[in-house]
Amino acid sequence: MSEYDFDLFVIGAGSGGVRASRVAAAHGAKVAVAEEYRVGGTCVIRGCVPKKFLVYGAHFAEDLKDARRFGWNVPDCGFEWATLRDNVLADVDRLEGLYRNTLDNHHVEMIGERATITGPHSVRLASGREVSAKVILVATGAWPVVPDIEGAEHGITSNEVFHLDKCPGRIVIVGGGYIANEFAGIFHQFGSHVTLVNRTNEMLRGYDEQIRDRLLQISMMKGINFRFNAEMERIEKNEDGTMCVRFKSGDPVAADVVLFATGRRPHSDNLGLESAGVELDEKGAIKVDDYSRTSCESIYAVGDVTNRMQLTPVAIREGHAFADTVFGGNPRTIDYSCIPSAVFSHPPLAGVGLTEAQARNKLGTVKIYTSDFRPMKNVLAGRDERALYKMIVDATTNKVVGLHMIGPDAPEILQAAAVAVKAGLTKQQFDDTVALHPSMAEELVLLK
Ligand code: NDP
Repeated sequence: MSEYDFDLFVIGAGSGGVRASRVAAAHGAKVAVAEEYRVGGTCVIRGCVPKKFLVYGAHFAEDLKDARRFGWNVPDCGFEWATLRDNVLADVDRLEGLYRNTLDNHHVEMIGERATITGPHSVRLASGREVSAKVILVATGAWPVVPDIEGAEHGITSNEVFHLDKCPGRIVIVGGGYIANEFAGIFHQFGSHVTLVNRTNEMLRGYDEQIRDRLLQISMMKGINFRFNAEMERIEKNEDGTMCVRFKSGDPVAADVVLFATGRRPHSDNLGLESAGVELDEKGAIKVDDYSRTSCESIYAVGDVTNRMQLTPVAIREGHAFADTVFGGNPRTIDYSCIPSAVFSHPPLAGVGLTEAQARNKLGTVKIYTSDFRPMKNVLAGRDERALYKMIVDATTNKVVGLHMIGPDAPEILQAAAVAVKAGLTKQQFDDTVALHPSMAEELVLLK
């Protein structure tokens, strides 16, 4: 008999928490997971999954227009936000059910309550129930940050955006990162007048500059408005529910919805971490070692709450590696190099490895190969949007150290190409592969 109620108690049933629970249980551990909201976490409930559906939905605006050039007789089509919203939310319900089934099938006890740590091996639930566990895993994710400006409470975040009553006629999106650029594309396609407000003149830091510039150029060409170096002063709400966004300088902007997409902070508040001596960094992230162990020996943390890389597949890997390490007798760490990522903007962009600037700093001499082309489909559609693929090569070894692209299906293409970059293949090895014609991806083996 164990001296504890559970071998593992997980706080947070998101991507990292669910994977860790399921794998630990499969290794024979007695597991419970506490979740105060819904099973699935940010990715499934209010992030990647519903966002991707909206991206698909938004794309029809251009597809329907382009279809006419391909001979289809498309009558004037209207867009109904409520239909898409309800279908998306219904699928989120379905997925949540699947996540619950997974936990059930692995005999993980699901506790629909908030849990607070009270010591290295103890947790108190909102109902007052006290639970003990040999190991505790914190997988509470991150939460949107809203800047401290007057009237900020009139704005929404990505938590609320999937539930809007109607599609806004005018939306102001604050921020220049992933969420801002993705929703700028989405709402623009739905017909909203979009203004993206950024505090600097740089968007999507971390991505290759040329690729980011191309997104900006295409977004502006499509009609998305940008306010750079804009310092917001306040948001005023009018009696009719509309808003006026005022800046320290420049004209105000009228809006029906203001969406804050200004980053996400590790969700580490009020978890009782101090009662077990779990240390946080200056951003509120739980400090962990390579095995996701915190400063308290029996407490681990994975996913966004550790702020290593705020990406779902990374949280899943961390959760899996934790469970294998602690309950599977297979200690393993995560390799954070060459992790591909994408922004599902219109068009999407994706990248893996070093950007040109990073490579020049790190390696000194690099060779750059680009292909700047108009995808075939765009040519016939009369669409003036060009794709850009860029390969960064270490001039000494000829290894491909970075690959970046913007254009239709860029994330799909990049995921496959990332295998080659991760494997350390050379430019010559890319060139040795015969092109698959006609495709956009063939540009990758034809770069001059
Ligand atoms: P990001 O970190 O991508 O971008 C935040 C943006 O907000 C930056 O432009 C930042 O400016 C700006 N900002 C930060 N604080 C303020 C402030 N106080 N006032 C004004 N502007 C501010 O965060 P997101 O919210 O877009 O997304 C959160 C995370 O979720 C991402 O980092 C990503 O890891 C993940 N995500 C991933 C997606 C994907 O994989 N496709 C999709 C959506 C989210 P500055 O650059 O100057 O700091």
